[in-house]
This record gives sequence, structure tokens and C-alpha cells, in this order.
Amino acid sequence: MKYALLTLVFVAILLTGYLFYTIYQQKVLLNIMVGRNETIGIIKSNATTSMFYDNMRFNSSRLFFYISDDCDDYKRERMTSALSMLENYTLLIFKESPNENTQIHIFCSREARNLTKKEYVAGEGGPTKIIDTGLFNLILEGELSLYKTSIDCLSPNVEMHELLHVLGFAHVNNTESIMYPVSSCEQQVTQDIIDSINLLYSYDSEPDLYLANLNLTRKVGYTDFEIEIGNQGLIPSPNVSLIVENDEKKEEFEIPGLEVGEARILEVKNLKISGNLVFYIDYKDMNKDNNILEV
Ligand SMILES: [Zn+2]
Repeated sequence: MKYALLTLVFVAILLTGYLFYTIYQQKVLLNIMVGRNETIGIIKSNATTSMFYDNMRFNSSRLFFYISDDCDDYKRERMTSALSMLENYTLLIFKESPNENTQIHIFCSREARNLTKKEYVAGEGGPTKIIDTGLFNLILEGELSLYKTSIDCLSPNVEMHELLHVLGFAHVNNTESIMYPVSSCEQQVTQDIIDSINLLYSYDSEPDLYLANLNLTRKVGYTDFEIEIGNQGLIPSPNVSLIVENDEKKEEFEIPGLEVGEARILEVKNLKISGNLVFYIDYKDMNKDNNILEV
């Protein structure tokens, strides 16, 4: 009788222990990751044109611009003519925005910086807000200023030069290029600039989710793991599922939407799965090859 009671107590303890173990087996943590510098890219840029940073672009080929009220009709006309020239050369499309808080802001009345008498600045331009997504240097906003000029070329060269700065292009050494630091009327938008723009903007405005840095510990029948999930694309990602699968079963983890350039670590302890595992994100995005890891 005494033994039976002891056995019963023992079994009860075991059962309780097992219950607790089952309840607490799965510990899931999603941490925001900071300081990721690694690039897990797909663009093998054959662009020869130098940009301020690699793979600089806006998130869409459809770009909004705003011309300040301080620009007179002449400057406005020259600016819009530079924009439509670039539309003809490339797959970019420019749309005028009624709102000044937009992607490209064009100013006319700003004063040039103090310069010596020999130097003369006709304009200035460049990206003003950039995010390094890991794959792109995503331009959020850019602005350009057109100053008073004494002589204008027939073609809107200064406007084009500054516009290309806004799109991420830096100066080059070729005196015949529009991106040569000293402006002259014969300069042209060179083919390498056109090719670079068309290559960079050939990618649709999509997120690019990737999996990386998988750390896995196998136990008998169980697995602990840590995995990085990030978005290196052009727009934020929606909520997606991370699936961990073997031949027999499938476990799903919900991954919240990630901003561009954001990465998180998913940490899971004692997941009841073992053997050969496949980790994948069930979502079709820009680059499908980096959505899967097998161990
Ligand atoms: Zn310049």
C-alpha cells in the first residue's frame, strides 16, 4: 500500500514535470538587430560610373519632384526639360508633386557658398536622406539648388548635372561627361550613366527578405536555433512566416513586417523537430535565393 502510494506520487511528479517541460519547451525571442554591415547582395553592378555609394537609387522608378515658388518660369522650364530628357534616356518617370515634402526638392533662390572670385558654382545637388539596406543605398530624399547663371547652354546642362547628383552620381574625370566638375556646353549624359540608371531601376519596388547566420544546436529529438531575418529591399515587408521543416513536420513562426535595412534575430529553444531541416520564408520577393537555408 505504502509502495503503491509512493509510486503514485512519483508518477504524479513525473507527469507534472513533463507538462511543465512541454509548456516551456519553446522559447521564442525576436530581437531587433543593430549594426549589420554585411551585404548579401544580388546586384553585380557592371556600372562603370562612380556613384557616391554603391547601388544608390530611390525606391521606385516613378519619382516625385517639387519646384519651389522661388524658381522663375525660365528656370522651371529648363529644369522640366532636363527631367524629360532623362525620362527619354532611361526608364525613370518624373511627376510633379503638389507637396513640397517629396522626393526631389528643387530650389532657386538659395545663395551659393562663399567662394573665391575665380570659382563659380552654378548649382548644387545631392541625396539628403539615405538608408543603407544592405543591398541598396536607398535614397529617400534629395534636393538641388539652381543659382543665378550668367551664361546658359542651349541644353539644360547644369540642371542635368545636379539632377544626376540627386540620383547618386558623383563627379568623373571625363571632360566630355556631364558629370565633369567644370561645366561646358558640349558635355553629354554618357551611356554608362544611362546603363547604370536602367540597371539599378530594373528591380521592382519590392522587399528583399533574406535568411542568414543560422546557429543550430541539435539535441535528441529537439533543436535550438538562432537565425537572422532581414529586409535589404526597397520597401517594407509584410508579416511573413518562417517555416522550419523536415520530412515529417513543419513548424511556423510569424515574423513581423521589417522596415528596409532592418534585421531581427529569431531565437528558439527546444523546438520538437530534428534531422535534416529546411528554413524558409514563405514569401515571394525580389531575390528568392536568399529566402532558404538547409542544414
Ligand atoms: Zn557637381
